[in-house]
Amino acid sequence: MKVILAESAGFCFGVERAVNTVKEQIAAQLAVPEEERLPIYTYGSIIHNKHVVSDFENKGVKVIGSLEELETIHKGVVIIRSHGVEKKVYDIMEQNGVTCVDATCPFVKRIHTIVHTESEKGTHIIIVGNDGHPEVEGIKGWVVNTPDVIGTKEEAENFQGNLSDNYCIVSQTTFQNDKFQDIVDIFCNKGYNVNVVNTICNATHERQEEACKISETADIMIVIGDPQSSNSRKLYEICRKECENTYFIQTLDDLHPEIPDTAKTVGITAGASTPNNIIEEVQSYVRRNF
Ligand code: SF4
Repeated sequence: MKVILAESAGFCFGVERAVNTVKEQIAAQLAVPEEERLPIYTYGSIIHNKHVVSDFENKGVKVIGSLEELETIHKGVVIIRSHGVEKKVYDIMEQNGVTCVDATCPFVKRIHTIVHTESEKGTHIIIVGNDGHPEVEGIKGWVVNTPDVIGTKEEAENFQGNLSDNYCIVSQTTFQNDKFQDIVDIFCNKGYNVNVVNTICNATHERQEEACKISETADIMIVIGDPQSSNSRKLYEICRKECENTYFIQTLDDLHPEIPDTAKTVGITAGASTPNNIIEEVQSYVRRNF
């Protein structure tokens, strides 16, 4: 059976950087005498992958679940994940004297800078994205006036603002390009004075395009990802549309496919939070057994 592994499968640049940051911090603490070691925390799970998170937990890394919990911490190293966080989180860390190691993806950091600078000038910020998503919550926390989050065309149609205001539209990095354009068009057509900064990251788009292409020709498609990871679930949906025999698995243990007699090609892809060793394990199993 022919096996096609997507080149874009697995960690994106920002996630890889965040995971490596945790590894570096563990190594740095192990390098100092035990009595001088500081506890290591991540603000939220470093990635949506329970295997990676529990591996780090076994090495002593604790996950902080809320601002209230962060307020109780006065000693240690706190790592910020690639999604980024609101400004308030940095302020609390500074007040409490904990060391901040910032692994916010530079593409997300850029959005924080834009919305902060623009809102300080009095510009009204529109964030195109999914309200409640941690990245969007982080972006909101850098806006000094009150931002609006728009997630659908209907919300854009229903938006009622002041036509004499200045607006700056940015996007959640993982938002779909065509949906973003549709929303921007609605604002422009309604006569708003908008400065549009397309802050969508190509990593997600490229992974989805490649998965779609592979699943068009594959007889069996395997998507590896955590069910908590929205980009992995999205990949599954995209592949399932093209290939009926698409399987969504977390690890090799979940793989029990029914292989049609006529099957000739297997495609494999993985979400942005799937570690390489899991992808490798699945790939070599498929090559040996299918
Ligand atoms: Fe950064 Fe893009 Fe990965 Fe988000 S998807 S962490 S913006 S590289």
